[in-house]
Amino acid sequence: MSIAENLLSIKNNLPEHVTLVAVSKTKPVADLMEAYNAGQRIFGENKIQEMTEKWEQMPKDIQWHMIGHVQTNKVKFMAEYVNLIHGVDSLKLLQEINKQAQKHNRVIDCLLQIYIAEEESKFGLDEEELNEIFNFVQNNKEGFKNIRIVGLMGMATFTDNQEQIKKEFTHLKSIFDANQNLKSEICNLKSLSMGMSGDYKLAIECGSTMIRVGSSIFGGR
Ligand SMILES: *Cc1c(COP(=O)(O)O)cnc(C)c1O
Repeated sequence: MSIAENLLSIKNNLPEHVTLVAVSKTKPVADLMEAYNAGQRIFGENKIQEMTEKWEQMPKDIQWHMIGHVQTNKVKFMAEYVNLIHGVDSLKLLQEINKQAQKHNRVIDCLLQIYIAEEESKFGLDEEELNEIFNFVQNNKEGFKNIRIVGLMGMATFTDNQEQIKKEFTHLKSIFDANQNLKSEICNLKSLSMGMSGDYKLAIECGSTMIRVGSSIFGGR
């Protein structure tokens, strides 16, 4: 099937409350344009330089999501245009995003990444670190006028064991639910970013509101 056909067959079967991020990392602009012409407006990339090159070349009504691990010293390269940063995993990074957003007179939406997998290689916060960030931000609102924490993100273990994946997604959803009481201008958890090509249906069953799908749309990498 073509990119457009793949995209539409996924999109047409999604519940209305679920947002599809088309993960286009490593793919050429021509492939992204095929998805764009089929109606897709949200693209996810995991490298800032690659995302910036694509942003420069592509229509300006696209929303660019950074889904990869972000190095603090590279935030400045995307602060002008990025719409949502999925993988925020430290206070230091949040402060840098705020600082760079301020320079462009923007407010940048962020998701905090939670560590849910049983793999050492994945990034993310544990619940204690998450609460520390929430507390700090809520008590220092003046310092975070140019960011909003709009949800959480997580990646399940890379395994065929559906029960394990389900357990991890359910865990993330419970953290998401437990923090629904945080309602301020800076913190308001609306989006739960979980689920990729192999596990997005399960993720939606477990409460995902935002899925990040790459290979099922654009083919293998
Ligand atoms: C690459 C990537 C995806 C998409 O993976 P697919 O299996 O190709 O759908 C989703 N989330 C993150 C964080 C990624 O790096």
